[in-house]
Amino acid sequence: MEFVVDFKELRELMVKTQLIPRGITDERVLNAMKKVPRHVFVDDNMQYKAYDDMALSIGEGQTISQPYMVAVMTELLDLTGTERVLEIGTGSGYQGAILAELAKEVYTIERVSVLADRAEDKFNSLGYKNIKVKTGDGTLGWPEESPFDRIIITAGTPKIPEPLFKQLSEDGIIIAPVGDRFSQQLLKVRKSKDNLHEDFHTPCVFVPLIGKYGWNS
Ligand code: SAM
Repeated sequence: MEFVVDFKELRELMVKTQLIPRGITDERVLNAMKKVPRHVFVDDNMQYKAYDDMALSIGEGQTISQPYMVAVMTELLDLTGTERVLEIGTGSGYQGAILAELAKEVYTIERVSVLADRAEDKFNSLGYKNIKVKTGDGTLGWPEESPFDRIIITAGTPKIPEPLFKQLSEDGIIIAPVGDRFSQQLLKVRKSKDNLHEDFHTPCVFVPLIGKYGWNS
């Protein structure tokens, strides 16, 4: 007997059981999470787990974040559809695709070239035209394409890399998991004319941000 998985139904269930009960309310975020095929961003043999309430391995010692973590970080970005967004840590490309549904342009940087190439192939196969991928050290940002209205770091960092503040536009927002190697908390930084406003949010555990302005290794 052939077993057919209805991924659309699994996405609806993921939103209903994992995101709404934990307080995700932004309809645009919920709709993007219902739309983007998360199973496409994991290996074929992991697809059956793609909508489970957990992070999954994507090879190269890296992970695709838990759906709830993707949703909460995206919601904290307060996207309206007009923004240019920089993502540090492309990984599987899933978070990038969610951002591309909700913002004008997405620029994403990954230090592991195999992952960057694979994610770019996925974006092309799904028809995303508003995502640019680069291989390199994301802690340096992407100065040629700056300023960015929003910056999201999807790897754990001891502090927000200095170059990223410079590449953030006025009234811009940065979201990052900030802490030690083993546990972090989501930090939201809002830049205004005269100061930076910081708020800590959900506790989390991310793989390390490795680079000049992150961890050494
Ligand atoms: N956003 C990803 C997704 O949707 O699958 C998950 C990202 S994964 C938790 C963290 C990623 O950050 C890894 O792929 C890792 O290689 C990458 N990374 C770590 N340090 C980096 C750096 N300095 N620049 C760019 N990418 C980095």
